Amino acid sequence: MRRFLILLFVTLLMGLTSHPYFVVVGGGIPRTGATPKAKEIVPAKAMYWKPLAKGLVRCELCPRKCLIPLGKRGYCKVRENRGGRLYTMVCDLPCAVHADPIEKKPLFHVLPGTKSFSIATAGCNLGCRFCQNWTISQYPPEQTNNYYLPPKDVVEMAKRSNCPSIAYTYTEPTVFYEYMLETARLAKESGIMNVMHSAGYINEEPLREICKYLDAANIDLKAFTERFYGELCDATLEPVLNTLKILKEEGVHTEITNLIIPTKNDSPEEIKKMCKWIVKNLGKEVPIHFSRFSPQYRMRNLSPTPVKTLEMAEKIAREEGLRYVYIGNVPGHRGENTYCPNCNRLLIQRMGFHVLGNHVVEGGCKYCKAKISGVWKMRTDANKGRE
Ligand code: SF4
Repeated sequence: MRRFLILLFVTLLMGLTSHPYFVVVGGGIPRTGATPKAKEIVPAKAMYWKPLAKGLVRCELCPRKCLIPLGKRGYCKVRENRGGRLYTMVCDLPCAVHADPIEKKPLFHVLPGTKSFSIATAGCNLGCRFCQNWTISQYPPEQTNNYYLPPKDVVEMAKRSNCPSIAYTYTEPTVFYEYMLETARLAKESGIMNVMHSAGYINEEPLREICKYLDAANIDLKAFTERFYGELCDATLEPVLNTLKILKEEGVHTEITNLIIPTKNDSPEEIKKMCKWIVKNLGKEVPIHFSRFSPQYRMRNLSPTPVKTLEMAEKIAREEGLRYVYIGNVPGHRGENTYCPNCNRLLIQRMGFHVLGNHVVEGGCKYCKAKISGVWKMRTDANKGRE
């Protein structure tokens, strides 16, 4: 009975706080109404683009490489050609501001139990039919409720709310790249870590630049077929795999989320192929989260993922050698916990986004001392990539 009541409480809490516009009151974070509302959109110079003939520009931020005519915007709805120059329309204008448990990103191997100051702007460079945040990701900034929050204020609010990290999340940080980059740079100077939850659809040059300031990333590996990416996301798989390899090269702690959607990407063969690729290219230490789909946006006709499908994926991943395999969006499931890959003892016990116990000591298992991959203390550039 007690367990049932805890589960009910946590589920209700998760439902409430998972809304991207929900701004937590307390811990120094202003009420929604006290955060300055943006009065207008002020274009800022965009990075990574080339001018072409007749006023056309080509955006080179993401693999889409939009050709943008005068007065028009790219696919993401936030980068605009004004007079033959490219501008971003979302600098300093987040539409979601929230202090989240870092477990919600999900990042299970990064300072467990801490809060991450999370921001997002309007727009996305993918068009996933199952998007959970489509009311902000699939709209231009003119149609979202924005705040005016320049980078220095984001850092200040993160400090005041005792968040050791800032998360670029909810929509797609690639499309608010300039805002993320400047915030991340200032955060680093102030000793605050930077984490990102992204679809990983970004070109190599901007990715390597942001990696200088990134401590951790969770990348959505939405499926392991070009067909899925083409039909359901308007995107391609290969650049996402490239992003994962670059993050590894750059020493950014990386976790992977794979949202399993019934009949779309849930075949054992596909999951096995994906896990083999991860082990071969990234190693066995990469945490993977198999997450439960719930009907959303333009995919309301499907049922939620059966828990046994997630358990099947978990089993395959472990058989392929992955050491940290999680089941997400099933509060109370044992697949939320971290177990030592050496002695199998329970190391981090979770309920939803809440940490109930943590037995990782100085980056290792409290019982057998085996090293546990992750970021367990505040990072400096000196220890980046060496945990
Ligand atoms: S970031 Fe936006 S404008 Fe640039 S290529 Fe990608 S979708 Fe197009």
